[in-house]
Amino acid sequence: MKNFLILLIISLTFMNSFSQETDKYFSFECKNDLRVLKSSDLQITSHDFDILYYDITVNWYNVLKNSNRIYPGKVRIIARVDTLVSTNQFLLNSFLTIDSVLKGNSKLNYTNSNGILTIFLDRFYNKNEIIDLEIYFRRTRTDNLGFYYYEKSSQTLENLAYTMTQPSDARYWFPCYDVPSNKADSSRLRIIVPNGFVATGNGLLEQTNRIGDSTIFIWFEPHPIATYLIAICASKYSLFVQNYTSKFPPYETIPIQNYQWSADSARSVYVMRNINLMMECFETFYGKYPFDKYGHAVVSPFAYGGMEHQTISTIHRNWLSWDGQSGIAHELAHQWWGDLVTCETWKDIWLNEGFATFSEDLYREYSQGKSAYFQSMNSKANYYYSNNPGYPIYNPPQIFNAAISYYKGALVLNMLRFVLGDSLFFKTLINYRNQFLYSTATTEDFKNVVNQTTGEDYSYFFNQWIYQPNHPVYVYNWKLVPKQNKYELNFFIKQTQNHYSVYKMPIELKIQLSYTDTTIKIWNTLREQSFTFEFSDSVKNIVFDPQNYILKQASRDISLDVFENSIPLKFELLQNYPNPFNNQTTIRFSLPQRDFVSLKIFNLVGKEIKTLIAKELEAGFYSISFDASELSSGVYLYSLQTNNFKATKKLVLIK
Ligand SMILES: [Zn+2]
Repeated sequence: MKNFLILLIISLTFMNSFSQETDKYFSFECKNDLRVLKSSDLQITSHDFDILYYDITVNWYNVLKNSNRIYPGKVRIIARVDTLVSTNQFLLNSFLTIDSVLKGNSKLNYTNSNGILTIFLDRFYNKNEIIDLEIYFRRTRTDNLGFYYYEKSSQTLENLAYTMTQPSDARYWFPCYDVPSNKADSSRLRIIVPNGFVATGNGLLEQTNRIGDSTIFIWFEPHPIATYLIAICASKYSLFVQNYTSKFPPYETIPIQNYQWSADSARSVYVMRNINLMMECFETFYGKYPFDKYGHAVVSPFAYGGMEHQTISTIHRNWLSWDGQSGIAHELAHQWWGDLVTCETWKDIWLNEGFATFSEDLYREYSQGKSAYFQSMNSKANYYYSNNPGYPIYNPPQIFNAAISYYKGALVLNMLRFVLGDSLFFKTLINYRNQFLYSTATTEDFKNVVNQTTGEDYSYFFNQWIYQPNHPVYVYNWKLVPKQNKYELNFFIKQTQNHYSVYKMPIELKIQLSYTDTTIKIWNTLREQSFTFEFSDSVKNIVFDPQNYILKQASRDISLDVFENSIPLKFELLQNYPNPFNNQTTIRFSLPQRDFVSLKIFNLVGKEIKTLIAKELEAGFYSISFDASELSSGVYLYSLQTNNFKATKKLVLIK
């Protein structure tokens, strides 16, 4: 979903009183709309069924013909019992009036209150038994919630009815199991509209049947689908179809069906001009387009910008006037990240929104080049800095917060791309797709794919960027020390944020020399850390993280002390001093990393005389004093060996 009003509006609306046709199986208390309570109170906490199939019929004839918002419907649900112990109850989410529940020809008892429809089955069912039910319902509420109706007006060019349910409003338009984690294996939509109207749906149009002055549109989606991705739009639409040929065998043609009001047709043709390029981009990086068709249904009014309903995104009519290319790319990318691989819980919403927002810029890079990608990422970072609410990406209190779930989510993927490099990063995405396709995934699942793909443990990356909030604050300083024929650059960096001890990140430094620039990468793994580099030319300036890969605050503090030579550049064994010597000399060596070190003295025929060091040492510069009073005059060898380095030099003892 893409918001253009970045607000989570929670409204307490009151259900209008309505004339209620009760049947003997049904009683409904007219009370305040409970929407504000739904986040926890109205969820089904445990569910004993795996939904296999929804077959949803809605009769919107009177809605569209007579602006009567009340409509009847029927849903057939096939589910597999998925419980350790047998069960005789079937729970669904429903804010609808239920007329009857049938199993075969027999009616089942049920209760329907506080948004939970409890169906009492005819007997106990065991694990893996299949249950097949039909629920006859009516939407008797007249508000816009889950289901929306707008009469023809200056902004609504024809009477318009549609559904829009993310995260959990599907229960306001059909009885369902309303969680993202349980996908139906397939779904069928049967929408009855007055002649002249068109109804869009998920999957492929199976048939349209005209019966008198109404038409039924039947859409079939053969692929698994999450409840919130099932959607209908119905109006007097015109249709134009584009074709995309998949890059993958068997090189199928995927129709792209665009539904809009006929006055907007030409504009729609223009705005959808890049859809093939977007398809090509996402197939290149994310693999084969996973469904049988794609398309857009244009609506107005719409509280959002666009919504990635499976195979047919709903988009705001504004996008046609604004030429909303990034929005169109965003919703298309959701077909992979959101629809094919769906966040398992709303705590993991960034797996949908962060990925789709990242994809906007990946398409920008594909179509306009890398600098356009960086420019757009930078503006997302600036939005985040100004609007950071200070909570983590994982389990955010507001799931559709733009700064966190969308922008920081995208920026974290950009950082992961930087840390892993393009090859491993995109390999990770393909592995993630392949492991969780047509299913759902959690943040931990994605982390595990990163670890499996790279063979390394990236828990630190997820901890610092996903599971805890905010970003690092760096201060740094440097000192240039002229040496013989060269300059030694000592760089000191310190993290000063209070909320997290140490962020581990590679950081690029752009070193501006007299005649040229060079970029080096340091691995900052300590709260305070020093680095030393050598240049043959004087350093004029240093740009910290020049591509702004890292979300951060960073500034040079010239009052910070810079220590020279604290971490060496390379392994080195220096000539002892003094040399020749009488009994006492000093041997110096440097380690650029922690290593096992052996420093030994040999005679000229290779016989070991003395071990000076045999242990693991931290990176650093070392000076070892060697007392040769027990040895006789002569030439000896001293040898430094580590797991990564070996060197031997001569020393001369004169007594
Ligand atoms: Zn989105």
